[in-house]
Amino acid sequence: MQTKNTQLLVLGGGPGGYVAAIRAGQLGIPCIVVEGGQLGGTCLNVGCIPSKALLHAADEYARARRWTDLSPIGISVASAQLDIRQTVHWKDDIVARLTGGVAALLRKSGVEVVSGWGTIVDGKTVDVRTAQGEALRISCEHLLVATGSVPVDLAGLPFGGDVVSSTGALSPGSLPQRLVVVGAGYIGLELGTAYRKLGADVTIVEAGQRVLPGYDESLTRPVAASLKRMGVDLRLGCTVQGRGEDGALRVLDAKGVEASLAADRILVAVGRQPRTAGFGLEGLQLRMNGRAIAIDGQCGTSMTHVWAIGDVAGEPMLAHRAMAQGEMVAEIISGKKRRFNPASIPAVCFTDPEIVVAGLSAQEARSKGIEVIEAQFPFSANGRAMTLESTEGFVKVAARKDNHLILGWQAVGQGVAELGSAFSQSLEMGAVLEDVASTIHAHPTLGEAVQESALRALGHALHI
Ligand code: FAD
Ligand code: NAD
Repeated sequence: MQTKNTQLLVLGGGPGGYVAAIRAGQLGIPCIVVEGGQLGGTCLNVGCIPSKALLHAADEYARARRWTDLSPIGISVASAQLDIRQTVHWKDDIVARLTGGVAALLRKSGVEVVSGWGTIVDGKTVDVRTAQGEALRISCEHLLVATGSVPVDLAGLPFGGDVVSSTGALSPGSLPQRLVVVGAGYIGLELGTAYRKLGADVTIVEAGQRVLPGYDESLTRPVAASLKRMGVDLRLGCTVQGRGEDGALRVLDAKGVEASLAADRILVAVGRQPRTAGFGLEGLQLRMNGRAIAIDGQCGTSMTHVWAIGDVAGEPMLAHRAMAQGEMVAEIISGKKRRFNPASIPAVCFTDPEIVVAGLSAQEARSKGIEVIEAQFPFSANGRAMTLESTEGFVKVAARKDNHLILGWQAVGQGVAELGSAFSQSLEMGAVLEDVASTIHAHPTLGEAVQESALRALGHALHI
C-alpha cells in the first residue's frame, strides 16, 4: 500500500471541502483533498449550478413561447422549438467549465487532489481506493469531513427507472409529458417550475398545507399563485400511498380521499440527509446531532482535530454556508482566532417569483421578545419592475423599535435573489434603518425598493 502524509486531509471536494483546501493552500498548510466523485460536489455537478441553468433555459423557452402569441412589447416569433438534448449539453458545458476551474484553483494553491473514495480508519488516517484502482493510506494531523448529503427516498417509491431524484431530473434524455413531483420544497418547486416552463404537465404533491412550509406565508403566496397561473396542479396536504399497477401515483388528501395521478416520471424531492454512512465515520463514534455530525462554534467535532462542515454538519444545507465554514476551518488550523457566528445566512428560493430572506422576520423577532417596527414596499410602485414586466412582490424590513438596528429582510419578486447581498451586508455591518434610507440607490433599479422600505419603516417613504 502506498502512503502519504499531510497536515490537512479534506474528505470531499464540494463547496465546503474545496474552499477549505484553497484557503489552506493560500495559508501554506500542506493539504490533500480526497474526492470520490467530481470536484465541485453536489453544488457544481448536480445541484445549485445545473438547476439554475435549467431554470434559465426554461425561462427563455417560456418567453419565446409567449412571443408566439400577441406580446404587449410588440415582439412576435413564428414558433418556438426546444432541443432538450442541446439544453442539457449547454448545462453540462457550464458545469465542466466550473469544475475545471476548481481543479485549477486547487493546483494554483498547491493542494494535492486524490481521486477516489476514502474510508476513515481513525481520526488521523484515511484509506483511499484511487480512481486508478490503487490502495493508498493517508496520514494527517487534521481531518476535515466534508462529505455532503444525499437525497432522501420514500418507502415504496425507491429511486430508479422513472422515479428520479434531482440528479436524474437535471439531465433528462427526453421531457416527460406528465411529471409528478413529490415535495414542494426548494427542489420540488425550482425543478417543477422548470419542467412546467419546458412544456411538461406538472403535478406537485406536498404533505404540508402550503408550498415551501419553511417560509413566511406572505412570501409563498405569490409563488403558489404563480404556479397555479402556469397550470401546475398543486396537491397540498397529501401523502403518497404508493404506485398502482398502471404506474400511477396513489395519494391520499387530508380528508382521506384517494386520488390516482398518472405519471411518466416522478421526481421525489422530500429533503436531503447528511452523508455519514459507508465510509467508516461511525468508527470515530463522534457526537451526532440527529443524522448530522454535531459541531461547535468552530466546526470542531467531539474529537480533537476532526472537523466537519457543510451538509454533513446539518441545516441549513446551503452551499454558501459550507464555503464560509470551510474557509474558517482552514484559518483556525493556521492559528487564526475564528468563530462561525454570521449575522445571517441568506436563503434564496429560485422560484418564479424568487424569494430571498436574510436575518429575522418581524414575527421571529417578536417571538424573541424584541419590539419591532416593520415596513414593506411593493414592486408595483417601482419603475424598474414595470420595465421588467413584473410588478408582483415586495421588499420587507424588520428593525428594532428602540434603536432601529435592522434585524432582517425578506423579498419576493422577479430577480430579487440579487438583493440578498445588500441584505446580508447591512445585517453583517450592523446597519440601522437610517443607514439604508440615506444611501443613494441607483435609479431605476429593484434595489430602490430596499431603500424605500427602510424609508417607509421610518415613516417617510417617497414613492408610495
Ligand atoms: P457536497 O457538495 O455534497 O460535496 C460533498 C463531496 O464529498 C461530493 O463531491 C462527494 O462525492 C464527496 N464524498 C462524499 N463521501 C466521500 C468519500 N467517502 N470519499 C471521497 N469523497 C467523498 N445550495 C445553495 O446554496 N443554493 C442553491 O441554489 C442550491 N441549489 C441546489 C439544488 C439542488 C438540486 C441540490 C441537490 C442542492 C442545492 N443546494 C443549493 C445545496 C448545495 O448543493 C449543498 O448545500 C452544497 O453542495 C453542500 O456542500 P458540501 O461541500 O457540504 O457537500
Ligand atoms: P426541502 O426540505 O426544501 O423540501 C421538502 C418538502 O417535501 C417539504 O415541503 C416537505 O413538507 C415535503 N415532504 C416531505 N415528505 C413528504 C411526503 N412523504 N410527501 C409529500 N411531501 C413531503 O427539501 P428538498 O427540496 O429536497 O431540498 C433539499 C435541500 O437542498 C434543501 O433543504 C436545501 O438545503 C437544498 N437546496 C437549496 C436550494 C436553494 O438554496 N435555492 C435549492 C435546492 C435545494
